[in-house]
Amino acid sequence: MQKESCIFCKIARKEVPGHIVFENETVLAFLDLSQVTKGHTLVIPKQHADNMYDLSPEQAQDVFATIPQISRALQQETNAAGMNLLSNTGKVAGQSVSHFHLHLIPRHDKQDGFSAKWEVHNDEYTAEELAELANSIASHI
Ligand code: 5GP
Ligand code: ZN
Repeated sequence: MQKESCIFCKIARKEVPGHIVFENETVLAFLDLSQVTKGHTLVIPKQHADNMYDLSPEQAQDVFATIPQISRALQQETNAAGMNLLSNTGKVAGQSVSHFHLHLIPRHDKQDGFSAKWEVHNDEYTAEELAELANSIASHI
């Protein structure tokens, strides 16, 4: 389903121009308006899903299946030394558009404009605590 007011649905419907780098029946990839680094690309399912919680397995499969191809094209175009694949869910995680998207961000060096930094490394969990946590999470699946 598409959402009338959603900006990414509008781009998928070609009602709003997008600088498209890849398209197939179910997936669209286009340049982010705000290029964190040159080539910064968004990959979306054409059908609306608010975020990763909402994504169907088929949508997830379709979107992720395009990533190797698109990332290789970006690498060739930008000669990137590396690449970040990122998805934000919820305001607190930085999501500003409520249509699931993956960011592909070509990386060059630590001063290239993007940083994914772990502020804290907490190595204080015991093996037992980690086992309990893993089991508890698994019980929700
Ligand atoms: P988020 O913050 O939700 O993870 O990422 C949303 C991204 O969408 C931002 O990087 C923002 O620059 C981009 N964006 C917002 N509106 C538009 C638009 O109308 N067209 C394009 N191409 N990108 C957009
Ligand atoms: Zn949408």
